[in-house]
Amino acid sequence: MPMTFDHEDAAYQSWIDTHQDGCVVNCYRDLSPAYLMVHRARCGTISGQPARGNTWTTGEFVKVCSVAIEALERWAGREANGTLQPCGLCRPTYAPGNKIPDFHSHDKEAEFWDTHEVTDYLHELRTGSVGVAPGLASEVRIQLDSEESKILRRIADERGIDVSTLVRMWIKVRLRSEA
Ligand SMILES: [Zn+2]
Repeated sequence: MPMTFDHEDAAYQSWIDTHQDGCVVNCYRDLSPAYLMVHRARCGTISGQPARGNTWTTGEFVKVCSVAIEALERWAGREANGTLQPCGLCRPTYAPGNKIPDFHSHDKEAEFWDTHEVTDYLHELRTGSVGVAPGLASEVRIQLDSEESKILRRIADERGIDVSTLVRMWIKVRLRSEA
């Protein structure tokens, strides 16, 4: 659940300090969907010393924080009836609405993953859509013993994805580091 900081500058600062990889939505107190700017916790515009005369959470803006940007996106839809706008300075890597396109060739798919981070699309992968046009995926059969397969299933379950998606993500990461 995202945490809202309203008239809580000290608590907000301490959240930022302890969740440097998290994300923060800067928004109006009335949660107007017109302004729901999402930042990385590290972004200079929402952390450190506020500009003179300003505060983080006691003025017209409040802060909504979460370690998972997907949770903030869901929060925005549910509570503010809007979508997040990514900050142009810190560029949170997950832009709302990131969608894995439908690929019509292997080359196109490879090109896409060369220039995009798999981790920016986990919200898509979680839905089980891996974005490969039907019939284009090549299948690799691997043999696992039952213990390995059990562990793999457990990790996949913990992450809420299916086993083939997990394996696919691991392979992509490894391929990138080997290439
Ligand atoms: Zn920012």
